[in-house]
Amino acid sequence: MGEKLRRSARGKGKASEAQKPAPSPQQIVARARQDREAREAGYRAQALKLYPWVCGRCAREFDRTNLRELTVHHRDHNHDNNPGDGSNWELLCVYCHDNEHSRYIDSDYGSAESHSQAGAATHSPFAGLADLLKGSD
Ligand SMILES: [Zn+2]
Ligand SMILES: [Zn+2]
Repeated sequence: MGEKLRRSARGKGKASEAQKPAPSPQQIVARARQDREAREAGYRAQALKLYPWVCGRCAREFDRTNLRELTVHHRDHNHDNNPGDGSNWELLCVYCHDNEHSRYIDSDYGSAESHSQAGAATHSPFAGLADLLKGSD
């Protein structure tokens, strides 16, 4: 009897504590990652069935022992474009896949970088000049 009372009292306190706030950003990210991984596992398995286990760039061959290093690349870089015939997929080893994407990212970031470089290039002579002027003053 006494135990029952204690339990219900504790249960009450717990219930209000257990009121969960909205999921944290980490939880949202974790769930999104899980979703994406599940999706990737789906098309990866399909792509591995469709294509020989060879990197499309460096022709490195894969077997079960190192298959985790063989990844599925999306030719149009759209991971949501997964036609069943595999026409948007290409098997690439992680290195070539990295290259493929850094090229893509480079061209994206390239403009930003060349902006800042151009900015720095036009900036530094003036900055240097200003310093020189300041120095000579
Ligand atoms: Zn490769
Ligand atoms: Zn890719």
